[in-house]
Amino acid sequence: QLDNIATPGRTKDIIRRHGFSFKKSLGQNFLIDQNILNKIVEAAELDPTKGALEIGPGIGALTERLAQSAGTVTAVEIDKRLIPILEEVLEPYPHVHVQQADVLDVDLPALFESNFKDVSKVSVVANLPYYVTTPILMKLLEEKLPLEHIVVMIQKEVAERMAASPGGKEYGSLSIAVQYYSVPKLICTVPHTVFIPQPNVDSAVIRLTVREQPPVETKDEAHFFDVVRSSFTQRRKTISNNLKSRYTLPEGRERIDAMLVQAGIEPSRRGETLSLQEFATLSNVLYEAGI
Ligand code: SAM
Repeated sequence: QLDNIATPGRTKDIIRRHGFSFKKSLGQNFLIDQNILNKIVEAAELDPTKGALEIGPGIGALTERLAQSAGTVTAVEIDKRLIPILEEVLEPYPHVHVQQADVLDVDLPALFESNFKDVSKVSVVANLPYYVTTPILMKLLEEKLPLEHIVVMIQKEVAERMAASPGGKEYGSLSIAVQYYSVPKLICTVPHTVFIPQPNVDSAVIRLTVREQPPVETKDEAHFFDVVRSSFTQRRKTISNNLKSRYTLPEGRERIDAMLVQAGIEPSRRGETLSLQEFATLSNVLYEAGI
């Protein structure tokens, strides 16, 4: 029985034997702490009837733990140099499939169809490369994949924005997009010392439990997200001013203000005070008026 991968000694040994050098540009910070791995894996609520999709397995620290909990695991890694290492360390786990690809290019519905058709539920579990966290998470959410949870280690500040409630400075279009598709829960914050090499930012583990239905009704989803983004264009401006710049109407401000009032929103409020429901109502009022 080999030691776990996620220890300083074993990680350094694997890296040395394979002559591996870290690429900062790929966000390569490998986990070397069993307690953090326990928290990540526990939050994912895996069991042998379920599948796990890992993005960026690195040298397999988390992959190994997923293999011990889930019925099947697919790990997508962009860095070709890591593939032989993963094949070696994951050799004891035939139900782990490693695919070399940029996850942003992967046809995920097709991957789910081929790799996860025999499991009851699938979760994404990953220590994400920080330079592409938001594009990866938005791809997972917007493609409406049949996911149970997305449990990810990300930059702490991004995790706080995703889980933020209306009224605070962290709350913005990212909070609304994430909360439209999922229910976020911060699991724990993580010190830099649990990685090799250590990143410059603080990290956190967040769980997004994917909703079966959005919590609000929108006439048109793309329009709803456009209204949300427009409302935060200049955070210090009122919602009335932001919307007036985005939707230029001959009647100008009066028309926008009348529709804000119709949606039950005081025009002098700022975007950061509106709830998801208020944004949905506002977008529906604007949409019905042909704006
Ligand atoms: N899971 C490992 C761990 O926890 O020790 C490694 C995590 S490291 C933060 C991020 C990993 O994602 C690296 O192995 C990196 O090569 C990989 N990666 C970076 N960009 C990627 C992309 N676009 N698609 C797939 N993997 C990517």
